[in-house]
Amino acid sequence: MADGNQRIDDIVVRLREHGMRMTPQRMAVLNTLIGNKEHLSAEAIHDRVRADYPMIGLATIYKTVSLLKEMGEITELNFDNDCALYDGSGESPHPHFICSQCNTILDIDDADLESLPGEVSHKTGYEITNFRLDFFGICPNCQKNNT
Ligand SMILES: [Zn+2]
Ligand SMILES: [Zn+2]
Repeated sequence: MADGNQRIDDIVVRLREHGMRMTPQRMAVLNTLIGNKEHLSAEAIHDRVRADYPMIGLATIYKTVSLLKEMGEITELNFDNDCALYDGSGESPHPHFICSQCNTILDIDDADLESLPGEVSHKTGYEITNFRLDFFGICPNCQKNNT
C-alpha cells in the first residue's frame, strides 16, 4: 500500500479533477482523515482542524467528507446512536470491533476474516461489492475497569 503522503497527493489530484479548490483547510481535513486508524465523526474532525483553522465551518467538513466518500477513499460507518464515523485507513471494507461501553472502534486485522467475502461469494454465486462485519462487546480496558 502507498504510504500516507503519496495517497494524500493522489487524492488531491483527484479532488481537483472533481472541481474542488484545495484550500489549507481542506488539506487539514485530508491530513486528519487519510491513513488515520481512528474512526472520527465529522464533529471530531471539525474539532481537530479548528485547532489550526478556527474559522473553518462544519459545512466545509461535511462537503469534503462526502466527496471523499463518493470517491471511495473513506468509508462511512453508521451505528445505532446515528452518529456517522469515518474510516480513512484505506483498507476497506474490513471488520470492526465496537466496545459498547466506551464506544472505541478498532479495526480487526485477521486473515481468516479477510477470506470470508471470497468464501461467501464462492458459496452464493454473488459478486460481493461491499460488506460490513461488526463485533460488539467490551474492550479489555473496560473489562479491567469493571472489576
Ligand atoms: Zn471499552
Ligand atoms: Zn476501520
